[in-house]
Amino acid sequence: MEEKSIFEKIRDGEIPAQMVYEDEHCMCFRDIQPQAPVHALLVPKQRINRIGVAESTDATVLGHMMTKVAEITKTLGIDESGFRLVVNNGRDGGETVPHLHIHILGGRKLEWPPG
Ligand code: AMP
Repeated sequence: MEEKSIFEKIRDGEIPAQMVYEDEHCMCFRDIQPQAPVHALLVPKQRINRIGVAESTDATVLGHMMTKVAEITKTLGIDESGFRLVVNNGRDGGETVPHLHIHILGGRKLEWPPG
C-alpha cells in the first residue's frame, strides 16, 4: 500500500494541524510555513495525488471544494480584501506534497506574475 501523505496523517489525527474548516469531503488548515499573512491549504480527504492526474470521478469533490472557498475565506477574514488560490503541480510547478491541495493566500497585496 502507498505510504500515507502528510495530509492523510493530518486527516487521521496523526499529525496536528490548525484546522480552519472540515467536512466529510475536505479539510482546510493553516500552512505550517506561511508565505503570506494568511496561508491555508484546502485538501480533499480522499487522496488525489495532483491536479494533473484528476479524473472525471474527482469532479464532485473538486467542485465541492471550490464552492467552500467563499465560506472559508470569510472565516479567514480575507473575503473582502481579496485572496489567491494556487495549485502547484509537479517539479516546475513547485509541488512538494503529493496530495492535491489548494493554497489560499491573502492578507497582503500579492504580486503578479508570481516568481
Ligand atoms: P506544495 O509545495 O504546493 O506541494 O505545498 C505543500 C505545502 O504544505 C507547503 O506550503 C508546506 O509548507 C505545507 N505543509 C507541509 N507540511 C505541513 C504540515 N504538517 N502542516 C501544514 N502545512 C504543511
